[in-house]
Amino acid sequence: MIHSAIHTARPDVNCAAHAHSLYGRTFCTLGRTLDITTQDSCAFYNDHVLYGNFRGVVLEEEEGIAIAQTLGAKKAALLQNHGLLTTGGTVEETVFWFLSLEKCCHSQLLADAAAAGRGETTKKIGNKEAMDTWKVIGSRKSGHFSGRPLFDLIEVETKGDYKN
Ligand SMILES: [Zn+2]
Repeated sequence: MIHSAIHTARPDVNCAAHAHSLYGRTFCTLGRTLDITTQDSCAFYNDHVLYGNFRGVVLEEEEGIAIAQTLGAKKAALLQNHGLLTTGGTVEETVFWFLSLEKCCHSQLLADAAAAGRGETTKKIGNKEAMDTWKVIGSRKSGHFSGRPLFDLIEVETKGDYKN
C-alpha cells in the first residue's frame, strides 16, 4: 500500500525502499526529523519529512496515500514508530539513500547520546553550508553513482546470482 501510493503520486519515482532497520526504526521513535550535523546528513537537508501518524500495520489504502502526501516531492520519510522510506529514479539511488539514511539515524543517536552525557547538544551545520552540500551530494545523479559500487560488489560476491 505504501509503494503503490508513492508510485501513483510520484511518476518521477521508479523505486521506493522501505524497511524496519534497527537504527532507522529506533530514531523514528523520537518523532522528529534528522538534525543536519554531518556532511552525509546534508543529502537530506530540506529533503526528508516526518510522517507522525502511525496507525498500525500498513494495509489501509488511505495510510499509503497519507504517507505519499506527506512525502511530497522529497526523497525520504521517517515513519514515526515504524521505519524508513526512501525513493529515487533508479534502484541504485534508492538503495544508497536508504543505507545513508540508516547510517545518519545511527550517527545522530550516538551523537545525541554523547552530547547529552556531557550536558551539551550537537553542533549543527549552517543552512547555507547544508544547502550548498545538498546540491553536491543530494542530487539524483550523486545518489545513483554512490550506489553503483554497492551493486558492483554484490555482482562480484554473488557472481551475478543476485539477479536470478
Ligand atoms: Zn513497514
